[in-house]
Amino acid sequence: MSTDIVDRLRGVAVGAAIGDALGMPLEFGPAIPTDRLGRTMQPGRLPAGAFTDDTEMALALAESLLARRPLDPADLAGRFVAWFRARPPDIGRHTRLTLKRVYRGEPWAAAAAAVQAENPESASNGSVMRCWPVALAHWDDLDHLLADSRLQSLVTHQHPECVAGSAFVNLVIYHLVHGAAPREAVGQALDGADPPSALRQAIEAASSKPRAELPNSGWVRHTLESAVWGLLTTGSFEEAVVQVVNLGNDADTAGAVVGALAGAAYGLGAIPAAWRATLHGEWPLRSGVRWDEARLIVLADSLADSARQIVRLSDGRTNP
Ligand SMILES: [Mg+2]
Repeated sequence: MSTDIVDRLRGVAVGAAIGDALGMPLEFGPAIPTDRLGRTMQPGRLPAGAFTDDTEMALALAESLLARRPLDPADLAGRFVAWFRARPPDIGRHTRLTLKRVYRGEPWAAAAAAVQAENPESASNGSVMRCWPVALAHWDDLDHLLADSRLQSLVTHQHPECVAGSAFVNLVIYHLVHGAAPREAVGQALDGADPPSALRQAIEAASSKPRAELPNSGWVRHTLESAVWGLLTTGSFEEAVVQVVNLGNDADTAGAVVGALAGAAYGLGAIPAAWRATLHGEWPLRSGVRWDEARLIVLADSLADSARQIVRLSDGRTNP
């Protein structure tokens, strides 16, 4: 594992939380005109720099992966329910409906299937917004990366586009971390995730769409379209995230997804220092424990087992 890979893996964790926090004040709002794009952390429902449910759910997934690997969906569901019981200020409708059933005693698989059956067309972005810890835990293991990306979605979001969308996001991260250029990484991830054709077409067309035609809604198809557009039409972490969060609407979630992708593409070192210094959140919710960039870096290193990988590399016993 090279230091370059470590920087990219850290960039995924910090980048996702930064995109979430930067988008937070713009959530549910209209697209911001291009001559007035927000480029600084601003307060909204939360103080400036605060991350939201997207990152909180990712932290639950990360801690589940630190405890058990490959992913144990019952363990993950239990951690989601503990978070749900702490009354998060922000929670998606589909997620809330599913976790309420699990809280009342239904097994996760039955709960998620029942909510999907009641809302067969529901394909919201709740599982793609939080899936990045799987890409860190399995940064060198494509089979487990694919399986656990899909499984973490099935725990709450069983629609095929949500399941394949999660695999797609983490495959883009995988290929970027291993040095692919953004457009190449997207193409390889489409091949690996094999999403339903409508989602594939949306992703393939994203980078040629005009800004005005990006609704950036809570639909997984719109979120992935925005994130891919941001990644492929810009040349830096800052510009990718600024362009996407200023689309408004589900700004924090699209911001979290493009932040993870751009973090993988450009690495932690490319994320603006002022954003990194302001970033914070509370985890576990209502615990009073403040998270900042340093904690996210430790988490990323733990998930990727970076220290051990670097030692093994210097011993010459493995190749990145
Ligand atoms: Mg949110």
